[in-house]
Amino acid sequence: MLSGPSGSGKGTLVKEYTDKHPEVFLSVSATTRKPREGEVHGVNYFFLTVDEFKKRIEEKGFLEHAQFCENYYGTPRESVEKKLNEGVDVILEIDVQGAMQVKENCPEAVLVFTLPPSYEILRERLIGRGTEAMDVVEKRLNEAHNEIKYADKYDFVIINDSIETAAEELGAIFTSSRCRRENNTEFIKEF
Ligand code: 5GP
Repeated sequence: MLSGPSGSGKGTLVKEYTDKHPEVFLSVSATTRKPREGEVHGVNYFFLTVDEFKKRIEEKGFLEHAQFCENYYGTPRESVEKKLNEGVDVILEIDVQGAMQVKENCPEAVLVFTLPPSYEILRERLIGRGTEAMDVVEKRLNEAHNEIKYADKYDFVIINDSIETAAEELGAIFTSSRCRRENNTEFIKEF
């Protein structure tokens, strides 16, 4: 699971990594946020109305869900569970509230926190990408203060300066997690 403040570059990092590692499944979340220019339903997000989202909550259709800056976000349960049952590694790019819910229900999940090299760079990135109005940028910067308090609940931290280095670090986390003894108990027993 990958979390970090809005503007920490986690979306770019995940894209860089999954483009080179198509064997990993990147979960597509549902949200009630309006699509940004260029975002495609079913690719970037499943864009739902608030009513549709609430119905999915009632149907227990989400593995986790949370409210972030006045919008709902959630991880569709079925597709993720299917991939995990097939033994496929899954990446969730979700906020800290969602990550804490998953950690609670799935203690073997690996939690990665991404940060930009400095707060100033975070601010510059959020303003520079121009996808949000200034009041939304301010809300997201405020939220960053809140999110960073959760960093000590995470297993790994990636400081996202160079995207190539950050993607290599994410790869190293995948590799070391796969090699963990707990993830190889069946093999050891059989052997
Ligand atoms: P954005 O609106 O910038 O796409 O996403 C805002 C925040 O919501 C980001 O921190 C992103 O990681 C988080 N987010 C995206 N999908 C999910 C999800 O399915 N669940 C949760 N809890 N957070 C999500």
